[in-house]
Amino acid sequence: MDDARGGERRAVVVEDDEDIRSLIEFTLTSQGFEVRSVATGLDGVEAVRTFDPDLVTLDLGLPGIDGIETCRRIRETSDVYIVMITARDEEIDRLIGLETGADDFLSKPFSPRELQARVNALFRRPRRRTAASEPTGQVLPGPDNEVLGHGPLRVDVDGRRAFHGEAELPLTRTEFDLLTELMRTPARVWTREALLRSVWGTDWATDTHLVEVHVGNLRRKLGEAATLVRTVRGVGYRMDTL
Ligand code: CA
Repeated sequence: MDDARGGERRAVVVEDDEDIRSLIEFTLTSQGFEVRSVATGLDGVEAVRTFDPDLVTLDLGLPGIDGIETCRRIRETSDVYIVMITARDEEIDRLIGLETGADDFLSKPFSPRELQARVNALFRRPRRRTAASEPTGQVLPGPDNEVLGHGPLRVDVDGRRAFHGEAELPLTRTEFDLLTELMRTPARVWTREALLRSVWGTDWATDTHLVEVHVGNLRRKLGEAATLVRTVRGVGYRMDTL
């Protein structure tokens, strides 16, 4: 799907406040995004379907369905990067606890520079196909791909696909990146801060809840292999020894 557009990045901005919408549009356009803006969650879900963006900025407080429900509906069909934008700092902890499926959170007021930094951090991750973006059939890893194995788990790093036995796992980009980091270094105990730096590309220690939530989501999708992702009390996570 990416090849046809010559590398152009697309973003959908879901925001009902016109001033903030303009600010986000301006910021993303100057970062080279082609931007489509909508003012409601339902229009946002529809725009993701038709416009096939690489990034969504999603306001929490929207008329009609709110940002949380919008995020949930987008995640039914897409693993696009989602940055949730809230009116208040204090909301972020609560939002993260709700496991919205957003990749990052930002509170108003924010500067264009801050938004750019968050977006750049997301896009520093390799942009490659994921299982969720191509749901048809199972393709086994190609011969040249880096493939990681751990017990019943297998990750095709270049193809961005993860398998439990023969079954492909429907991971989001963030979950895939987390699993890959853990599987690359099975002996390493990762602190939450180190995972933030490595997977999210950020250093903000206050965001470590984000790691817990995404590890939780990843474990749910791993099914009976979930126990392989071990919590190291007071430290972080590591792959369990086999
Ligand atoms: Ca709003």
